[in-house]
Amino acid sequence: MSTATYDVLVVGAGVAGSALAHALSTLRRPKPLRICLIERSLAEPDRIVGELLQPGGVAALQHLGMGACLDGIDAIPVHGYCVVLNGKPVHIPYPDAKEGRSFHHGRFIQALRAKAKKASGVDVVEATVSELIECPKTGRVLGVRAARKQDGASEGSAVEKESFFADLTVVADGCFSNFRSTVLAGAGVKPETKSHFVGVVLEDARLPMSQHGTVVLVEGHGPVLLYQIAQHDTRMLVDLKVPLPSDIKEVILSEIAPQLPSSLQEPVRTALAKDRLRRMPNSFLPPAEQGGQHTKEGVFLLGDSWNMRHPLTGGGMTVALNDVVMLKELLTHVDDLSDWRQVSRVLHRWHWSRKRFASTINILSVALYDLFGADDECLGVLRTGCFKYFELGGDCVRGPVSMLSGLEQSTVLLARHFFAVAFYAIWVMFTHPRDLRVAEKPVYARPRLDEYPLLLLKCIQVFWTACVVFLPLVWTEIRWW
Ligand SMILES: Cc1cc2nc3c(=O)[nH]c(=O)nc-3n(C[C@H](O)[C@H](O)[C@H](O)COP(=O)(O)OP(=O)(O)OC[C@H]3O[C@@H](n4cnc5c(N)ncnc54)[C@H](O)[C@@H]3O)c2cc1C
Repeated sequence: MSTATYDVLVVGAGVAGSALAHALSTLRRPKPLRICLIERSLAEPDRIVGELLQPGGVAALQHLGMGACLDGIDAIPVHGYCVVLNGKPVHIPYPDAKEGRSFHHGRFIQALRAKAKKASGVDVVEATVSELIECPKTGRVLGVRAARKQDGASEGSAVEKESFFADLTVVADGCFSNFRSTVLAGAGVKPETKSHFVGVVLEDARLPMSQHGTVVLVEGHGPVLLYQIAQHDTRMLVDLKVPLPSDIKEVILSEIAPQLPSSLQEPVRTALAKDRLRRMPNSFLPPAEQGGQHTKEGVFLLGDSWNMRHPLTGGGMTVALNDVVMLKELLTHVDDLSDWRQVSRVLHRWHWSRKRFASTINILSVALYDLFGADDECLGVLRTGCFKYFELGGDCVRGPVSMLSGLEQSTVLLARHFFAVAFYAIWVMFTHPRDLRVAEKPVYARPRLDEYPLLLLKCIQVFWTACVVFLPLVWTEIRWW
């Protein structure tokens, strides 16, 4: 069995792994690091994930010296969001004319991999990692065993495994990580699947606001997300809750498409007739502290293998890239990567100092999803309140979108806006006309005085619902064991 030895092994050349391999190669050290980036398939990925990079992610990419990866991939500038409720749009521009980018995921990944491959000291190896090599005495991870991709090998034929050893192993193998449970053995966290995104590409579709991510809030299902990913291509992601319907196409055609803006209905029908539906689980996985007594020595997780949030707010790549920025800074001060005490101190600092950006994006994504995918009356009140809060404009838009885009990082600011939405939703309940629907026709009326006692009761329920949505999410971020 052949073996190779490096300073660092990185498993998975997706967003996080490629960025980390490149970042490590730029660390100033007496002797440049030797890094092995192991990826199971270097072919261009064809996935429905990671297609919109928020401005905060663009800034992190530039900080890492990888900004050029957004050039030459037919990327579309993104200027903000447009949220549509009952056919009514509200404009949510990014602050200070900042821009994100949307693109075909595979093209972006290939650009990141090419940049990592060119970096000094980085070897990119096409192989599937099958196990972590552990020291039989201490349990410390010493490296990985992997099988190289063999051109022309028949399915099922025996492939010789190679051993790769390193002072430090970083696992960045994505949302379906095979090594998460081994590395986090004692930490007791597991991904929770909130819903699924079902995706198709629409051809030459016209969004209500061009170069803006579009979120359509539909009755009976989760939100529909649309953004242009190339000159002629627009991604549509439909959020469907578990259990999934048996005939997904039919549900989209009959229940969801009629609620979309009219300019999108024809492209949606055409895409559904032509295209295969793709599906991905939308999981939530709070980050568990690594490097301590509950996790493995010699290895740590990065990216989706460690921490996931709902993709509604397109924050995954922004978190992963900011994580790499922070890790790069912290690892600069570690002179010996084989000294686990030094590395685990870095992991401890990383875990707590990344909170300011990662927690904000993590909590916001799930809280906003719960409101936008409202499946009970109180959440419905909060959803209407949230939409009307955005309609107020000014700081009611700037605050939330600054956090969503990864430009502003503050859990306190997030809590302020979230509960401002809750109180505004209650105010709206008392003061705004609501649709009473008489004989299928909309009839709008403000609540009468004799309805106030019931409304007061509902206020308490709505406020309680807001707390039940928000506070457990905060808890997942501040628990320290
Ligand atoms: C439906 C959906 C839509 C999303 N949309 C967005 C969005 O618009 N914007 C955004 O910022 N985020 C989005 N995300 C989240 C984003 O895709 C992830 O946060 C991001 O891709 C995480 O990067 P990663 O490097 O951790 O994992 P990945 O990018 O998944 O990379 C993992 C890599 O590891 C490789 N690998 C896996 N196992 C092995 C193995 N055993 N051996 C070797 N290699 C291996 C894989 O081939 C892959 O290349 C979305 C997520 C979902 C589910």
